[in-house]
Amino acid sequence: MKRVISSLILAGVIGSIAVDARADVKVVTTTEDLAALTREVGGDKVTVDALARGYQDPHFVEAKPSFIVKLHNAQLLVAVGRDLEIGWLPPLITQSRNAAVQPGGRGYLDASLTVRILDMPTGQVTRAMGDVHPQGNPHYWLDPANGRRIAQALQQRLSDLSPGDASYFAQRYADFDKRLAEAEKRWDTAIAPFKGTKIVTYHRSWSNFAEQFGLDVIGYVEPKPGIPPSPSHTLDLMQEMKRQNVKIIAVEPYFDLKTPNAIARDTGAQVLVLAPSVGGVKEASSYIALFDYDINLLVSAIKQTGAK
Ligand SMILES: [Zn+2]
Repeated sequence: MKRVISSLILAGVIGSIAVDARADVKVVTTTEDLAALTREVGGDKVTVDALARGYQDPHFVEAKPSFIVKLHNAQLLVAVGRDLEIGWLPPLITQSRNAAVQPGGRGYLDASLTVRILDMPTGQVTRAMGDVHPQGNPHYWLDPANGRRIAQALQQRLSDLSPGDASYFAQRYADFDKRLAEAEKRWDTAIAPFKGTKIVTYHRSWSNFAEQFGLDVIGYVEPKPGIPPSPSHTLDLMQEMKRQNVKIIAVEPYFDLKTPNAIARDTGAQVLVLAPSVGGVKEASSYIALFDYDINLLVSAIKQTGAK
């Protein structure tokens, strides 16, 4: 009986190995944006799990034991990089005991390596000084041109990991590229009449977005990225907003609205909760839907407030 059971177990193991050989590439991404782009390129040849949710601050994510399990089983880990996840990801990678997904490994992709990075510090900046963007702006996915570059890097890496599916990934990438280009035309048309509009944002999340769509970010509710608002900085910001007649304060969904609301009352501006990530609001269900949501919201707010 014992022998029968063990041979059944053995058959089961062999069966699962055989299934694994044909299985999807198991991908873990740190954010929902990277997961959405992986799905665009990977289609049904990948299974994708995002660690952080789109409505969470990606700088500060609470690590869960389930994250370690996901990383242990992953063949590819895709990270935003530029120190975005430095506060929570490195110990999880170590604890995963998965050699493939260690930084530098075949199964580790730093998505920031092939994109356009803004806000590169000119002097010496470290996290010790409180600025959480010491390697340039890590919110670079909010430029569709960078989304395209990330998708291209994903296509290459997925093809390396699963060469038999290379032409499938190439075709999926080409299709995404086409749909993104069509969407970019739509977004550019919608925002063209409002180029140069001055806005304030809570965190410095929107540098790439603003550059791409011609918005002028004149200040931030945070004194520095990652530093909570202070009374003196808020006062300075309100004076500057009045001087420049700024009517829009864009806030990420994970920040307290108390200070933005106080600034809005004092300056006559409108607080706008934009989605900085896929999954930030339910409408932002894909990479393209994210921009559709934000641009629609922004354009209607600009029209409503007469912001310039
Ligand atoms: Zn940031």
